[in-house]
Amino acid sequence: MKTVLITGASRGIGRAAAKRFAKQGYNVAINYCKSKGAAESICDEIRQNGGRASIFCADVADNSRVQEMIEAVECEMGTIDVLINNAGIAPKQGLFTDFSENDVESVFATNIFGMMNCARAVIPKMVSKKSGKIINVSSIWGICGGSCEVLYSSAKAAVIGFTKSLAKELAPSGITVNAVAPGFIDTDMNSHLSEEDKKLFCEDIPLQRIGTAEEVAETLLFLASDSASYITGQVLTVDGGLI
Ligand code: NAP
Repeated sequence: MKTVLITGASRGIGRAAAKRFAKQGYNVAINYCKSKGAAESICDEIRQNGGRASIFCADVADNSRVQEMIEAVECEMGTIDVLINNAGIAPKQGLFTDFSENDVESVFATNIFGMMNCARAVIPKMVSKKSGKIINVSSIWGICGGSCEVLYSSAKAAVIGFTKSLAKELAPSGITVNAVAPGFIDTDMNSHLSEEDKKLFCEDIPLQRIGTAEEVAETLLFLASDSASYITGQVLTVDGGLI
């Protein structure tokens, strides 16, 4: 029985992934930071459906909390076979020059340093087992860049560089590292947008609609599966054809 740790699994894409991996038979370690009630509710839902899940609180940007979390997951669920580095934040849109040094630090701390913290903590055991999968959630903005989204786009581009280089470093150890780059997905992250804004955005999407968290979860599950055993260092976009 495989164990997956999904960061930021209390809400949105991470929550949908927790549900999907549990349905597939994984032990699911649900990481959350602030939304304890939401994390508990998805954990209960999985257990009620016969799955195995537990919740683990940690701010991924805090390296010592991440190390404690990994030890707690390993103690309760065994070594981690799959790490889904999903936790992320998107600052309000704005001109680059309007953001402070603190804004830059906070976006990078969660969106890229958090992924590095989690990966650093799971890699040693994956290397000794000579197997493991790390999947990082980037964004299409990390590929093509977004105006008024400079901090977010830069951090998500760093996720891609991290993915590609780590993939080369870990391939001889039998570990694959890939990224998923979602487009416009219907989660809390986009809840500030009006219905009118969403409609306008959809006009630019070839599939003419917003994606769902469940659709991203399917892609994460594929990359974690044996069907993706010869895929590493890749970025899979899930964006309805937008870029
Ligand atoms: P969301 O609905 O806002 O959920 C974000 C999740 O990340 C929450 O579970 C939150 O947990 C967690 N999180 C935030 N900061 C954290 C921290 N420091 N430590 C641990 N967990 C933290 O967002 P989403 O749309 O599902 O986004 C998930 C990932 O997809 C992110 O990396 C995002 O950048 C990426 N993405 C999203 C879209 C989109 O359109 N939605 C597009 C491209 C990429 P708590 O609530 O417990 O703090």
